[in-house]
Amino acid sequence: MRIDLHTHSNKSDGTDTPTELIQNAIKANLDVVALTDHDSISGWDEAAQAAEGQIELIKGVEMSAEFKGVSIHLVGYNIDPNNADLLAEFEQLLNERDNRAPQIIKNLNNIGIEITPADVARQSTNAVAAGRPHIADALVELGVVSNRKEAFDLYLAEGMPGYVDRYSTEIFRALELIANAGGKSVIAHPWSKSSIDVVTPETLRQFVAAGLNGIEADHNDHSPAQRAELKAIAKELGVAYTGSSDYHGTGKIEFGLGCNLTEPDQFELLFSS
Ligand code: AMP
Ligand code: ZN
Ligand code: FE
Ligand code: FE
Repeated sequence: MRIDLHTHSNKSDGTDTPTELIQNAIKANLDVVALTDHDSISGWDEAAQAAEGQIELIKGVEMSAEFKGVSIHLVGYNIDPNNADLLAEFEQLLNERDNRAPQIIKNLNNIGIEITPADVARQSTNAVAAGRPHIADALVELGVVSNRKEAFDLYLAEGMPGYVDRYSTEIFRALELIANAGGKSVIAHPWSKSSIDVVTPETLRQFVAAGLNGIEADHNDHSPAQRAELKAIAKELGVAYTGSSDYHGTGKIEFGLGCNLTEPDQFELLFSS
């Protein structure tokens, strides 16, 4: 069984349509793939149609959360798509992302980069909101940088001249919203550079006490030693550990579908109860 529990389509900041994503998941010999766009479930229906009878689709979302002012990504699976509280929260997250884009563009203009809202809009035509990756793509198109990573490293990451903070859901509220919508929650790449300092083992214990169902361990942001430690923590806390590609199409190099997989027993543990 090849199970990949974290991928993005161009409804957020991936480059495949949901249909292309499913086709590529089949080509990558996956048996199970989860679609987890940022703060949006708008790709679910198209993905489900493409997946029908071919591959098992898990419907998910990667929520923009925060803990102690640090960005935390929380994946929610199998949430009720009609849960009003969760839908309202997604709407706020997407609006705030959209509202931030002009401010980032202005910051870039201020340091002499001639980028316009139209340049960004061309990159986010299928997306539900314009995020930093779309601004990065516009910078690539303008020839300012050669890829998304360079755009983040030079201009868009925290501390860089284009950076503008935006609203994220407080983590304990996000955990509650997902649980109340009948979903399972998994903390995504907890030991990415940006969050490793605040997501201590004790913090993970608090998250589990507040309803967290799993910890993403096998992810390209984690070293082999970190993966092993996160799996040990998950076991100790009695929750699942997962493995995922965090595929973004051509938007993220070396994050190909199936590059990390979730073990079948962990999949079972996450979804059985
Ligand atoms: P936003 O939510 O609009 O602030 O954009 C953040 C998203 O950009 C993250 O969730 C990642 O998908 C993506 N991202 C962050 N850093 C990088 C990077 N260095 N290279 C490519 N994509 C990135
Ligand atoms: Zn993304
Ligand atoms: Fe993420
Ligand atoms: Fe992701």
